[in-house]
Amino acid sequence: NVAVVLFTSDLRLHDNPVLCSALRDADRVVPLFVRDDAVHRAGFDAPNRLAFLADCLADLDAGLRKRGGRLIVRTGPVAKEVRRLVEETGAGAVHLAAGVSGYAQRREEQLRTALADSDCELRLHDAVVTALAPGRVVPTGKDHFAVFTPYFRRWEAAGVRGTLTAPRAVRLPDGDLSSDPLPSRDGVGDVSPALADGGEQAGRKLVTSWLSGDLADYADGHDDLAGDATSRLSPHLHFGTVSAAELVGRAREKGGPGGEAFVRQLAWRDFHHQVLAARHDASWSDYRPRQDRWRSDEDEITAWKTGRTGYPVVDAAMRQLAHEGWMHNRGRLLAASFLTKTLYVDWRVGARHFLELLVDGDIANNQLNWQWAAGTGTDTRPNRVLNPVTQGKRYDPHGDYVRRWVPELAEVKGSAVHEPWKVKDALDYPDPVVDLGEARARFEKARGLD
Ligand code: FAD
Repeated sequence: NVAVVLFTSDLRLHDNPVLCSALRDADRVVPLFVRDDAVHRAGFDAPNRLAFLADCLADLDAGLRKRGGRLIVRTGPVAKEVRRLVEETGAGAVHLAAGVSGYAQRREEQLRTALADSDCELRLHDAVVTALAPGRVVPTGKDHFAVFTPYFRRWEAAGVRGTLTAPRAVRLPDGDLSSDPLPSRDGVGDVSPALADGGEQAGRKLVTSWLSGDLADYADGHDDLAGDATSRLSPHLHFGTVSAAELVGRAREKGGPGGEAFVRQLAWRDFHHQVLAARHDASWSDYRPRQDRWRSDEDEITAWKTGRTGYPVVDAAMRQLAHEGWMHNRGRLLAASFLTKTLYVDWRVGARHFLELLVDGDIANNQLNWQWAAGTGTDTRPNRVLNPVTQGKRYDPHGDYVRRWVPELAEVKGSAVHEPWKVKDALDYPDPVVDLGEARARFEKARGLD
């Protein structure tokens, strides 16, 4: 008998419950990836993610070939392509990871409909994309946790499933199965110059070096912008080239304050997924609706996008995003707070821009972190405003992060780089786009705090 494995956000052979389950139930398996039109129509196929995805698919195909199989790529509406493959192969089951986004939910519905009059069953697998399935822990009488700390307590106590090893062999059904060519990174335009490499092998290598290093620095150092002391595993977690459950298990084994701090960050990822699973609307609507009106000044928005606000730490972060397709978490928080609270611009404007560039751009993590930063989400202190000067001095105390990304300020020494207007006025660097005192007063008025 034959089963189809529809790879989605789980582009890996190690610790993949979808693949393992299909191989347990069927003696022939068709590994399938569908380049779904809907992803393109939704504008979600941003160049950085397409390039990273091309690496992931090439690596997955190579891993499957080593085991006697290969990746079948089809292009078109996902349900139609799956149905067609089921007919071609006589498959009795289609396996895939359960997803939380509106897109993933629609895909599941479409697959259910497409297979309804066939003898093929749809098998969804939990705890593939996240370490703990959304809904696995819930507060009494509610469908999700709206606050992280109590979620984290229950999440920690629940533990994660055991890790699965990569299969030794993957046998395709007999006969010819056509496949579209694998997409290539070279064919993607407008990719950030320093984009990371994708693929399971690159991901596993990164995990090994990350966990063999001294995580002790992570507990204290993960907010240090210049130190760059975080794992940079986010794109691998997004594409599933690294398994979140396996990573939690291995980091727990490693232990210590660094291991614990790292596991806590991974729990944030699960937290946002369980919010979105229960509240699909939170991808583009306020999680906690607000009545006040956002501002929209195109010049200010452009200054923010291009890293020319005149606030060095914000500009450094935005330029890192453009150059690497990735940004440090503290940079994301500062850039998001600046746009939504200092400039008082709608969080959706920022979230959309991030999704255009972030290689780890993810509906659950991006949108809900944006909402958190904007005070429309799950932050229990929604009215705090991050001051880019004091935050810059705190998280980039020697100014190295700013000098790395803002060459106009390369000659300014130490933390003085965070207040270039005090240094001299001949610097080829923009004046502040807004006065922080006025911006705060505007914010407080808009939020009824004045
Ligand atoms: P590490 O510090 O090494 O953390 C390990 C992993 O934990 C990360 O890879 C990530 O999967 C998870 N994690 C850490 N912090 C968070 C968090 N706050 N929320 C959810 N998961 C977290 N993360 C994304 O993966 N995709 C996004 O699109 C995204 N957009 C963001 C937008 C804003 C405005 C903000 C403030 C944060 C966003 N984040 C997003 C969360 C976080 O910034 C990144 O996950 C992190 O910077 C990735 O770097 P790292 O892998 O080195 O993190």
